[in-house]
Amino acid sequence: MKAVQYRTVGSAPEVVTLPDPEPGPGQILLRMTAAGVCHSDIAIMSLPAEAIQFPLPLTLGHEGAGTVAALGAGVKGVEIGAAMAVYGPWGCGACAKCAVGKENYCLRARELKIFPPGLGAPGAIAEYMIVDDIRHLVPLGDLDPVRNVALTDAGLTPYHAIKRSLPKLVPGSTTVVLGAGGLGHVAIQLLRAMSATRVIALDVSDDKLELARQVGAHEALLSDSTAVEHIRTLTGGRGAELVLDFVGAPATADIAAGAAAIESDITLVGLGAGRVAVGFGALPYETTVTSPYWGTRAELIEVLDIAHAGDVEVHVETFAIDDAPLAYERLHAGKINGRAVILPNG
Ligand code: NAD
Ligand code: ZN
Ligand code: ZN
Repeated sequence: MKAVQYRTVGSAPEVVTLPDPEPGPGQILLRMTAAGVCHSDIAIMSLPAEAIQFPLPLTLGHEGAGTVAALGAGVKGVEIGAAMAVYGPWGCGACAKCAVGKENYCLRARELKIFPPGLGAPGAIAEYMIVDDIRHLVPLGDLDPVRNVALTDAGLTPYHAIKRSLPKLVPGSTTVVLGAGGLGHVAIQLLRAMSATRVIALDVSDDKLELARQVGAHEALLSDSTAVEHIRTLTGGRGAELVLDFVGAPATADIAAGAAAIESDITLVGLGAGRVAVGFGALPYETTVTSPYWGTRAELIEVLDIAHAGDVEVHVETFAIDDAPLAYERLHAGKINGRAVILPNG
């Protein structure tokens, strides 16, 4: 089969031919229909060798959707041909966090060397992929896999981040979305679907600001040195009850701190090594700073339910598997509007 791999530290992803995988006991073989391209892959491919926790080569792709092609011994409860989304943050399934569906915070994943597909285990940008357990599949039903595959991360991660702050998103509140890319443009729609908050989106490119407005941002502003002042003016000096930072760079973390209201949440999602200082006087009273990772399986089901209701639509640019390296290049250059989605089987 064809697969897209990160093979050696510092190199670009490559299209390679590998033997078709076969499902072992308890595993499921998916024929991949769609796989999303996330900026986290670029973050991983920028790490020095000593910071990489898993062996290379790595088949990329942690947003996957496909149809069930074969079942390993003992697998029951899923039909061949069924359309499935992959729940990506795999855990042990047995610890206290996994027991409540929070496999994203599995207590034993590191010790047991359990990695998400595309982030250590063979990923979704391939003609076939192995899913290690039936609990990591969520039925897509009649949802279009190409339009919805990104909800497994670009939907689930913002959904989880927003849900924990919902009590603050009352009428009259403001949410700032930093970075209107793959995650950000879905976040704007989720905020509109889930709350009465007013959404101010910031980005560095006019195309992204246009997309932000199109998908429901009330205001879309350039993310520059005047951004904090703009946000303060738009909120009558009060600031934002929630700041979602989908860049997480030092510059955006500074905007987040500057834009936060009293009793606000600052949520750093992006992996850009930004920091927000906490301490008396450093931030408005009772501001909470957090950095969540992905989301729970139950939350993925909820996100897909929002899609079923027609309240979230991912803006998708599709690529053939042979063009996956180009998709990464374009994402790196800031040239993907919405999400790049690879079609591994054409
Ligand atoms: P993306 O490239 O699609 O979107 C990033 C957006 O940020 C782009 O639109 C870009 O123009 C914009 N941007 C860049 N610099 C900016 C600045 N200074 N101010 C405002 N906007 C700016 O990336 P993505 O796939 O949406 O991922 C976003 C971030 O979230 C990445 O860092 C990714 O690694 C991270 N991520 C984290 C989690 C998690 O669980 N914490 C999950 C998925 C992705
Ligand atoms: Zn991701
Ligand atoms: Zn666990």
